[in-house]
Amino acid sequence: MQTQYFIGTRGGEDSGITFENAVLSPSASYGGLYTLKKLPKFSEDEIKEFSELSYEELTRIILNKLGLNIPRELLHEALSLYENFDDKTCPAPMYLMTPYLSVQKLYCGPTRAFKDMALQPFGVLFSGFLHNNRNAHNYLILVATSGDTGPATLQSFANKPNIKVVCIYPHNATSDVQRLQMTTVNADNIAVFGIHGNFDDAQNALKAMLKDSKFNAILRSKNTSLSAANSVNFGRIAFQIIYHIYASLQIHKINGEKVHTIVPSGNFGNALGAFYAKLMGFPIERIWIASNANNILTEFIDTGVYDISHKTLQKTYSPAMDILKSSNIERMLFALFDSYRTREFMESLESTGKYTLSKEELIWVQNYFSATSCNDDFCLKTIKAYAKKGYIIDPHTACGIKAYETIQAKYPNAKCVLCSTAEWTKFAPTLAKALDLGDLSDKEALETIAQTYRTLIPEQITALFNQEEIHKKVIQKEELFDSILQWL
Ligand SMILES: *Cc1c(COP(=O)(O)O)cnc(C)c1O
Repeated sequence: MQTQYFIGTRGGEDSGITFENAVLSPSASYGGLYTLKKLPKFSEDEIKEFSELSYEELTRIILNKLGLNIPRELLHEALSLYENFDDKTCPAPMYLMTPYLSVQKLYCGPTRAFKDMALQPFGVLFSGFLHNNRNAHNYLILVATSGDTGPATLQSFANKPNIKVVCIYPHNATSDVQRLQMTTVNADNIAVFGIHGNFDDAQNALKAMLKDSKFNAILRSKNTSLSAANSVNFGRIAFQIIYHIYASLQIHKINGEKVHTIVPSGNFGNALGAFYAKLMGFPIERIWIASNANNILTEFIDTGVYDISHKTLQKTYSPAMDILKSSNIERMLFALFDSYRTREFMESLESTGKYTLSKEELIWVQNYFSATSCNDDFCLKTIKAYAKKGYIIDPHTACGIKAYETIQAKYPNAKCVLCSTAEWTKFAPTLAKALDLGDLSDKEALETIAQTYRTLIPEQITALFNQEEIHKKVIQKEELFDSILQWL
């Protein structure tokens, strides 16, 4: 396959940007994101052949067909990390919950959320590209997390040479398990700070720093570039296409049907992977975006209006989806419309907090996507109802059940794949509440639920409670700048 060159979603002069370039330096002109210029489209026959491949073979072929030019050895090393997942042969296994609903477990990696699916191989690629690069110098990766991206990024980059990671999280707004997954990581190249405030405060403090001239001068003097490990980085999206393809092929090969793919969504990175899979011709009928009370994506897909000007972020039991500005929508708009139109939308969002699709554009988006949202009450009731049937699901996955019920009502024979984005063990106190076990700490909730429902807690989670918290600093957001400089 020919080399894929990446282009900016908002246009600009960037040319000759390879996958490697886009991974190391993910921001494009005019504040846009690097994205694929062209997608391969596969025939029925090719798709049939792909459905016989192992997960690893499928990954190799698709990434190759996308023209990403990842050196063979490097990709091999990156994918070998999947061997540490629960099922050595498949990092994203599926099980049948009902004849119409397959659940894809995307949380079988070290931090028990779907972020590992991409961030595990991503860390290896990033380091590999860095060391192949003749202008090699140092990279600083800044991460603001609401609880899942932080742990997965730290796992991926701990002890990697020439890379430093600063991770900040909102203090008292993550679960104990999520906090421990960050504060116990023992590596010299990472720093973790709790911030007094919410996720937006953490994110805004980082953004302010990125614009600061003193900070940038210091980075230059240390021969250090900034990069990102969130889903604005296409390196993550690449790996998030594969499991959607895999799931659709597993179902299609049994009965020849196309699947409805349900994706609990926040920043739209996971859903974007499904969208690319569909554009390439894989048997996906429709992509269902599941949101919580922060239903900006549902509103957008239902009405064509993306309007955050009157919204404030609500805290919910599914915190990884508590988001108003969903970055990867931009890549979807680019793929359906063009860079000129995308730039118009994004500039309107920045200046007025809002943009509106034309009627025709909305119909186009609705050819691919539907959306549902649910409140916390539905989420808790669903967790309880499924636990009674013997399935312990996390709050994000529970929001996806709302989409499943909506599909069932409309298309009773449809086959659905629900992306289960986290293991319940990351949100045990919420589960305890849902299951009428009371207000418990993470540790108490984990033990009580495991006993009551005869389910196992993975070693990665139990071990956390016996480890020392190394990164204990909790600071005001005004102190962040100095704390980071001091550490650097
Ligand atoms: C990150 C995350 C999501 C949202 O994924 P996006 O790609 O940002 O849409 C959903 N559920 C869980 C558990 C997550 O960690």
